[in-house]
Amino acid sequence: MRFPQNDRPFSCLLMEYTLENQNNTQIVADDLVVSLQYTLTVDGKVVDSAEKDDPLQFIQGTGDIIPGLESQLYGMSTGDNKKVSVAAKDAYGEIDPEASVEIPRSQFPAEIPIKKGIQLQVQNNDGEVMDAFIDSYTKDTIRLDFNHPLAGKSLLFDVTIVGLRSATEEELAHGHVHGEDMEEEDGDEEFSEDDFSEEEDA
Ligand code: ZN
Repeated sequence: MRFPQNDRPFSCLLMEYTLENQNNTQIVADDLVVSLQYTLTVDGKVVDSAEKDDPLQFIQGTGDIIPGLESQLYGMSTGDNKKVSVAAKDAYGEIDPEASVEIPRSQFPAEIPIKKGIQLQVQNNDGEVMDAFIDSYTKDTIRLDFNHPLAGKSLLFDVTIVGLRSATEEELAHGHVHGEDMEEEDGDEEFSEDDFSEEEDA
């Protein structure tokens, strides 16, 4: 083979790299990094989304996203779009009616506004910190609910696969995605619970 005079010796390596990364025949399978554009609709209202240029990234098969969605992604390829309905039991679980407690207003910190849907953290006697929200209140008491704000809800996802690649050894060892030029990030943000706070009562 003859190369043009101005060709650089490492151009073959670059070609190989490019071809491998443009492999569009990959389908979603375990240990692949999936880039997902999505909207999440609950009770007819969009409560969360990720755009094409800033997709949600996760390693398929690690349980990083809710199981009812993850299981529906297998076999999809880049560009594929799908609507996925996930029942509460495969998302944030059914509502546990026992997971609430009524406390006297006198025990409630004065700086926290008392409104339905306000989210707070509560420390129990063992020092364990739990997320809760104000479910209801009377003039003497406040009822705190420890269910996830999306418990009991079925979720409707509209998803598009915008990227697929093999996870690196390091990513597999850590169990999470390392961005192209991002710093090491642990404790990845999932759906922010702030996105799901109830409308405040007037
Ligand atoms: Zn890591």
